Amino acid sequence: MAEKSFLVQKFARIQLGQVHIIGYSVAGEETVVQVPELNVCFDIGRCPHFALTSDIVCISHGHMDHIAGISYYLSQRFFQGMKPGTVIVPREIERPVDSLLRCWREVERQGTPYRLVGMAPGQVHEVRRDFLIRAVATHHGGPSLGYVLVSVREKLKQEYMGTPGQELAEMRKRGVEIQYRLEVPLVAFLGDTSVGEVFRHPDVVNAEILVTECTFFDADHKLKAKAGRHLHLDNFAEIVPTLKNQHIVISHVSRRTGIRRARNMLRRKVGDEQMKRIHFLMDFEGSKEAGEVEEIGPPPPDTAE
Ligand SMILES: [Zn+2]
Ligand SMILES: [Zn+2]
Repeated sequence: MAEKSFLVQKFARIQLGQVHIIGYSVAGEETVVQVPELNVCFDIGRCPHFALTSDIVCISHGHMDHIAGISYYLSQRFFQGMKPGTVIVPREIERPVDSLLRCWREVERQGTPYRLVGMAPGQVHEVRRDFLIRAVATHHGGPSLGYVLVSVREKLKQEYMGTPGQELAEMRKRGVEIQYRLEVPLVAFLGDTSVGEVFRHPDVVNAEILVTECTFFDADHKLKAKAGRHLHLDNFAEIVPTLKNQHIVISHVSRRTGIRRARNMLRRKVGDEQMKRIHFLMDFEGSKEAGEVEEIGPPPPDTAE
């Protein structure tokens, strides 16, 4: 396991295809997972500096290790002249989070602006015509959501393939629907969850990248996993073959189990072939010091997909 320094917190930075997964996630301590290219941060942890650059934060549930930095995120963005952050939360905690943020305005004597969006499972938040965020139900006891970042593309219908462009243009003028809508789930983030329906949700199964917790690995931690509504290695090993993701990133591993040991235990369960697509977020091989990660900001929204 990587040595922990309290002076310099190390953050993970994994490149997977076109995007990076940047963050930090240890059970009960802090979880923050950013996809800078898509301008979204999942959970905010204690709001490390790099998280400020995401215009949208999706909060999975109300546990402190996932939401602590939310007022700091909004306040700092205002202080630094950035546009108000959008914070998406499970609708059951929208009201108390709103009260919390209003209290902070009084305490800080600063009119921090923010946009709070409460979501229910299945609900969609449209960021742009071609990009949306879908909430999915997770299983963690209280109100909790996972989120899927979905790219929306317009495709030519099969029957018009090979039709000359001019003809297509004329049909379009006449109001013929020549295109259909194709949703491509890019990244799914589950926050904290135990086993259940969420692992059969088509967006979760098919997302190019799935970020899921797997908190406990040791055999004698099974009861802990059950009590805290978390995944145990044995649950995860059963789920893996049913998933179609190109990449699976494991987050929220308990500090009780070292990452290298966790990886070896998982390898014994699922085999070398599956391990090719499985990454541990907190595997600090190739990690960056905070200062280096801070250089990475999101591109203008119109170039992001
Ligand atoms: Zn947690
Ligand atoms: Zn939790």
